[in-house]
Amino acid sequence: PDAVPDTAALSLRFSQFDETDQRLQIINDQKQYSPIVSEYMKRHWGLSESGFGYNVVAVFGSQSTGKSTLLNRLFGTNFDVMNESTGRQQTTKGIWVSKADGSNTLVLDVEGTDGGERFEDQDFERKSALFALAIAEVVIVNIYENNVGLYNGANLGLLKTVLDVNLQLFQRAGSPKTCLHFVIRDFTSQTPLAKLADTLTGYLSKIWSTLSKPAGKENCSIDEFFTFAFTGLPHKIFARDSFESAVTLLRHKFSNPSDPEYAFQPILHKRVPADGFASFANGVWDRISSSKDLDLPTQTQLLAEHRCEEIAKEVFDTLFVNGVKALKGIEAGKVVEDFGNIVNGIVDSCLEKFDVAGSRYQEQVYQRKRSEFRKKMSTNLLTLYTQQLTNISKRSLEIFTSSLAAGIAADTESGNSQFAKHLAEALAKSEAMFREGASAAKLQDAEDWSPEVQHAHFISEVERVAGVKRKEEVEKMMTSVEKLVVGGMKDAVIGKLNEGGSSMWVGILNSFGEAVDFGVLQVQKRGQGFESTGDEIDGYKATIRWQTWTGLLETLNKETTDDLMLGRMKAIFEARFRYDENGVPRLWSLDDPIDTFFQVATDDADKSLNIYAKMDVPLKMIGDYIIEDQRFDPACVVIITSQRLQVIRDRFKKDAGNMFVEAKRSMVITTAK
Ligand code: GDP
Ligand code: MG
Repeated sequence: PDAVPDTAALSLRFSQFDETDQRLQIINDQKQYSPIVSEYMKRHWGLSESGFGYNVVAVFGSQSTGKSTLLNRLFGTNFDVMNESTGRQQTTKGIWVSKADGSNTLVLDVEGTDGGERFEDQDFERKSALFALAIAEVVIVNIYENNVGLYNGANLGLLKTVLDVNLQLFQRAGSPKTCLHFVIRDFTSQTPLAKLADTLTGYLSKIWSTLSKPAGKENCSIDEFFTFAFTGLPHKIFARDSFESAVTLLRHKFSNPSDPEYAFQPILHKRVPADGFASFANGVWDRISSSKDLDLPTQTQLLAEHRCEEIAKEVFDTLFVNGVKALKGIEAGKVVEDFGNIVNGIVDSCLEKFDVAGSRYQEQVYQRKRSEFRKKMSTNLLTLYTQQLTNISKRSLEIFTSSLAAGIAADTESGNSQFAKHLAEALAKSEAMFREGASAAKLQDAEDWSPEVQHAHFISEVERVAGVKRKEEVEKMMTSVEKLVVGGMKDAVIGKLNEGGSSMWVGILNSFGEAVDFGVLQVQKRGQGFESTGDEIDGYKATIRWQTWTGLLETLNKETTDDLMLGRMKAIFEARFRYDENGVPRLWSLDDPIDTFFQVATDDADKSLNIYAKMDVPLKMIGDYIIEDQRFDPACVVIITSQRLQVIRDRFKKDAGNMFVEAKRSMVITTAK
């Protein structure tokens, strides 16, 4: 009993990778396209990386005419052949693919039913033939010698339809040619091969003349789309030896590029890279089976788009994503020193990898997809570039801050502030650093990569820091001038206060005036180190005037306390009362007018207190120095209030009274001697 074909197992073969079988049913009896062609290309046939370095051959012809047998002999494949003893076919209808033994050749075997009258059968034969013509460089047309003369009727009709549809759907100017290689089986040599070839060519020309040609190609010859070859194969059983040697010769033509009649001429190549074959053949089959009106150029373009996108995505997901890992740390704020070299390296190597597979596809599409890919990478790297710029900006700001600080520190040692110069130097140094870092980080040809936003931010940060520092340094400068001015004035003023006398206030005000003049000169001079404006310098001057004035008032207040005033009064009193005009201590005698002396001394002391109580100079003289300052309040020039004057006088009276009593007592004692 014959083995019934296991249809379940066969349908599995169509969709599930089989480790043990090189053959794949690329199109099944349901006219579906296999989902695992790519996998076979890669794992069984090892072709995915071959680029254009592979060929496709297909066979076309009536059922049971020894097609599979021939393919197996020529290419070392193991397509199913009819069981000779039972006449039963082992495989279901469909198109099978396998790889030739020893060469990068894909071999397509068509298993059809015997081209009967049924539409369904003819439909499949026609579609298979179209498929073969569209994807194969060489289509072997398998035909018995004794059928050559009968090549008309149904057979002729089928060929006519196939050539017609092929012409309408797939052929455009510039399409690669396909070779129709007629293999005449059971060839007897009674009619020479050349004669048979002429007959077949005659039929084809006749068919060709009836087909409607593409616009502008109305008179084109069949040779613009096809090349032809003819081989006679003697009977496999009755002329076994001649069959074998003819097969050997034919195998040589298909496998050896140096054969003068090498079958796979470069002009026949469909220019579909191996990694796109599965997808290309799928597209062709879809168009055929749904009879959509689509030509090969459109197919080629769609394929190029699809594949170039796939290739770009794969390169992106692997090479690009891995490459970018070298830039980690950038997010943590680190300046990646080699950033520019790294990103340019990543993009270049990704494009290089993309080019290897992508450049085989339609030039225009490939170029477009290439620039899209570059753009995608550049957009992706842009955020990292921005981060790098932010990091560079931060680092440059640190350099700015530290070199400005170093300049200031040097000034503090030398005592000569050149803030503006240090600022300019620090700015130049740090900005150059920013510019240098930013330009080194750039990706070539990425026009939209610009450092200007970060640069502007950097500059505004520098200005902010500079502003703070400048304010600090100006304040320091002002404080030091104030100390210098007020300190010097204080000693002079204390001296004048201790001297007292009627010209005391004029003296004090002169000291004040000298101090103000000196301070104004100082801030004007030191302001130049800050490149201060005229307005700023006017401000410094007003400040130093006011500070000198408040310094003066403070000194006056401190130096005219009750105790100090009392001391001064007592000193004057004693000088008048206890000493004579020559400074010699008085020895009182009973005749001395002690009351009068006491009165004079008390009056002098009191008068001197009045001098201190009020700044006795024209307000105008002060105003010359203070210049319309809102804070200036003439009331301040009251040094000792009348209440305080009363307190001081009372205390003085008591002390003077005691001294008077003491003097009287000493007079008694002196007299008693
Ligand atoms: P296919 O259906 O076209 O693939 O044909 P097969 O390869 O399965 O072969 C069908 C039958 O033809 C088998 O019984 C083969 O033994 C037989 N056969 C194979 N080669 C030849 C040949 O060169 N001449 C003849 N007359 N029969 C052949
Ligand atoms: Mg077969």
